Amino acid sequence: MTAKPKVVIIGTGGTIAGRAASATDLAYDAAQLSVDELLEAIPGLKDIADISATNLFSLNSKDMGPGEWLQLARRIETCAEDQDTTGVVVTHGTDTLEEAALFLELTLRTQKPVVVTGSMRAATALSADGPANLYQAVQVSASNQAIGRGVLAVLNGEIFSGARVIKNHSIATDAFKASAGGLIGSAYSGHTFFFVPPGFSPLHGAFHRVLQNDQALPQVGVHYVTAGGNEQALVSLEAAGCQGLVLAAFGSGEIPEALVPSAQAIAERGIPIVVSSRVNHAVVLPDTMTLNEAGNVVASRHLNPQKSAILLTLTLATGSDPRDVFTRADIAK
Ligand code: ASP
Repeated sequence: MTAKPKVVIIGTGGTIAGRAASATDLAYDAAQLSVDELLEAIPGLKDIADISATNLFSLNSKDMGPGEWLQLARRIETCAEDQDTTGVVVTHGTDTLEEAALFLELTLRTQKPVVVTGSMRAATALSADGPANLYQAVQVSASNQAIGRGVLAVLNGEIFSGARVIKNHSIATDAFKASAGGLIGSAYSGHTFFFVPPGFSPLHGAFHRVLQNDQALPQVGVHYVTAGGNEQALVSLEAAGCQGLVLAAFGSGEIPEALVPSAQAIAERGIPIVVSSRVNHAVVLPDTMTLNEAGNVVASRHLNPQKSAILLTLTLATGSDPRDVFTRADIAK
């Protein structure tokens, strides 16, 4: 008999570990159950992999951020270095899952599958989606086909590139979608399909060195552009100590003329500005935005504001050049 794959599950909290007062309550408390308790609802899991479970955090992911993701990345690395480990699954709240998945993709170097999952319904809800999501995440992480693809997100039977997955709905169970190039496979119980050959996103592991020291990561502010501008709100981000800014601009990167002088002045004072879009599927190119891509101003390409903020944080933390990084991070042309 061949040995079963060995999968480590690292719990961080989220709705997948959430509990409500009744099965039909929309309100619930996230991050109440341990991974071991989640596994009790999935007896068949032990047939497909030997599982070892550990709880790193018990947090609603609204309270997860770069500091927690640094610790998570280090823990994943330690688990992946164990030659017995086939793959690693992370259970995570869905609200910041797309940021966590990009952070991990940019900092981890392992070839082994690392799969992030979560759920939209609490563990106690009618038709909770957590057990199926966790089963499929383990199934994918245990699969040889998932090797050499970087960080993946598995939810609702779909496999996404961690770099490209986005949350697109506040409540529905098919909340996760792919931004350009992000949907790469599907996972049905017992069957894993990849639509594209193995390969990493362009900046896979490029910021690995941030895992090696304990410095606090730089603060990046996001300014949400609304009709009429709001220059004061933009300027206050610099005053609050942000070392980089992301604009969630209109459409393909336009901003009101009234904001242009302040934005340019901020960039000239040495604060990089990434122009992204408040539209769900963001595409901002140098020739579609109001500001010129020059000096400290750069287009986000296919990254939305929250993903741009993660990439800019790591860019600043490593003293890298924002234009070079955002150009290289883009999907193949
Ligand atoms: N607020 C929850 C969290 O992100 C939502 C979820 O997990 O779906 O932890």
